[in-house]
This record gives sequence, C-alpha cells and structure tokens, in this order.
Amino acid sequence: MHATPFADFGPVRVYFGEKTGKYPDGNQVVVRGSDAMAVFDTPQVANRIADVLAAADLAILGHVHEDHMAGLHLMPGKPVHVHQADLKAARSFEGLSRHYGYPQPVLQALRKKIEAEFHYAPRPDAVGYADGAVWDLGGGVRVRALHMPGHTAGHSVLLVEPQGLAFIGDIDLSSFGPYYGDATSSLSEFRHTLARLPQLPATGWITSHHKGVVQDRAQFMDLLAAFAARIDEREARLLQMLAAGPQTLAQLVQQRLLYPPHADDLWVDCAEARTIGMHLDELLADGRVRRDGERYRLAGGSA
Ligand SMILES: [Zn+2]
Repeated sequence: MHATPFADFGPVRVYFGEKTGKYPDGNQVVVRGSDAMAVFDTPQVANRIADVLAAADLAILGHVHEDHMAGLHLMPGKPVHVHQADLKAARSFEGLSRHYGYPQPVLQALRKKIEAEFHYAPRPDAVGYADGAVWDLGGGVRVRALHMPGHTAGHSVLLVEPQGLAFIGDIDLSSFGPYYGDATSSLSEFRHTLARLPQLPATGWITSHHKGVVQDRAQFMDLLAAFAARIDEREARLLQMLAAGPQTLAQLVQQRLLYPPHADDLWVDCAEARTIGMHLDELLADGRVRRDGERYRLAGGSA
C-alpha cells in the first residue's frame, strides 16, 4: 500500500484521493487551529487516513452527496455541520432521496451501492449552518461558510481565514462541467454562483475532484471560464438536437446531453432529464423554444 499523497498550505492539509480525487474518490481537506481540527467533507480517501479522521474535532460539509459522506462513519458522535438547505439530506435516507429526486427503484439500487462503496450511513445528529457561519479553530484560524448553491441547494464554499484558501467543493473546474442534475440542483443558481465566485477574497482554490489546488488567480479564472462554458455548450447542443425536429423530453434524454453514450450509472437518465428540463425551461422562458403538448421545438420555424 502506498502512502496517501498530501500537500500543506499553512494550517490546511489536502490529502489527494485516487486520480487526484476523480469521482468516486475526492480530496480530503483538513484544517488545524490551535484549539480544534476540522475536516471538510469526507471523501473515500478518508478511509485511508482513518487516524486523521478519528483525531478530528468536527466535520463541516460543503454539501451533501454520497461521495462527500464516505468517512463520516470514522467520526461517530463528533459534530457534523451541514448547510441548512442540505441538512435533511444528511440526516436520513428519506431526505437524501428527496435531494436526489430519483424514482424509487433507482433509489433502492443506489442505497445498496452507496452503503457498499461509500460506507453510507445517515447522520441524524447533523446540525445546520447558515450563510456566513464562522468556526473559530483557535490561533487565528477561522472557517467561513459562503452559500453558493446550484450543484445542490445547500452547496457552500468554505473559506479558511485569514489565508484566504477557498474549498469550492463540486464547483470542481473539471472538463465535465457543472453538475445540476438532482432535484435540489438549479441551473440558474449555478450560473449566479459561477458569476460570484471570482469576487471571493481568495488566494487559493481547492476542489473536491480533479484539479485539487489552484494557487494562481489567472489560472483559476481560465479554468472557471472553461468550466462555465460547458453550460453554454450544452445549450447549443440541445438547440442542435431540436433543429432535427420537434421532440419529447424522453427522446432528448435518449440522445444524452450530459453523459457519453456508454455511461451506465444508475442516475444517468434522471440527471439527463433534470438537466435537459432546466435548459428547456430557460429556452421556453426567453422564447427560443416552444412546447406543443409533450413535444419541444425551435421557435420561429415554420414546423
Ligand atoms: Zn456533489
């Protein structure tokens, strides 16, 4: 077994998951103050540094998803803080089910999968935080939560002060682009979040997956622009799909906007439907698409 790679940034240590935290793994952030040690989320890699998790005083989740709860079982009885909009998703599987919004057969299969692969267990003891919440870890080290929804309703950036290191979670700067395929996800909120993110007083950005740590603002801005551009690329592709003729949501889902044809994860069809639906809502609202019964078509044409 190889040692888990990590890097230090003042009071912050980042343990990198497999393939720099590519899903299903993630990067584990640990913040040490003079009084307390906090972990941000608990990805699968937490299970390879179980002694670190056991020594932590509290977990602060930037959002709730299965791949961010995979080490919570290593911290029984320790405080788990979650933004209030994601709190029910942390507290029970019923809450998590409403958070995903998938049909029952998918949820049942998903529960088995996340129990087996992510050590999933609900945390009925989780406590809620609000935008602007601050944790003082001692020695001048503080964590500030900044609500940045879109990926989930409660998704928050956790800013380590005074260093200005921002854990931006699943605003992960990946080539996949923004994920807003669940019931509490929101395309419009994600757009707003991406516009606000550069205004944070940050000197470094840490993602849950893929990029890991970015310390150069110009590089961050380039990566953020490419990440955000995936939204417009999806919109353009959807318009192209509709240019072939009027189609139902189910027909559009079959063609896939988000995932490659070979992707077969349990949630793919649900995430496609939700994502395409949100893009269609925007296009309907600004008059570029019309709806005739169950079928969507480009506006302005004679079809
Ligand atoms: Zn997520």
